[in-house]
Amino acid sequence: MLLHKVVSGSPKDSDCDIEHPDLVAINDQRLPETWASMSEEDFAKSKFFHYTPSAIGYTQVFKDKDGSPLKEMLSIHFFWFDFDKTGIAVVSDYWGGKVKYFRFGCDHDFHEVYDGVLRGRCLHTYECKKCGSRHTVDSSD
Ligand SMILES: [Zn+2]
Repeated sequence: MLLHKVVSGSPKDSDCDIEHPDLVAINDQRLPETWASMSEEDFAKSKFFHYTPSAIGYTQVFKDKDGSPLKEMLSIHFFWFDFDKTGIAVVSDYWGGKVKYFRFGCDHDFHEVYDGVLRGRCLHTYECKKCGSRHTVDSSD
């Protein structure tokens, strides 16, 4: 797979050990089940501009989500954010002179959880209602 870990902001040329069903699909040159288009505005407001990706990759995709052939091959640059197991992809339409934006992974629906663990006044834990992903935020900054 042409997927490279990002270490200290620079791509590292090595095999990637991040495992996720969506990355397996992309490695198989197939669109992941969670593949969805984003508007340019959604992309501009996305985590792409707020977080450093854990891995980046480039591939050509020939198959749709169900494995059937796409009408046209997609040339995909993708960015994986391992902290929430999601990705963002940019797809070039060379002949049309356009760029399209996509996301994949869970479309998280986070809500704050109180599990009885005292974490301090400024630590808040959130859990996704769809996939169960959890993260804790320190709001004291
Ligand atoms: Zn989720």
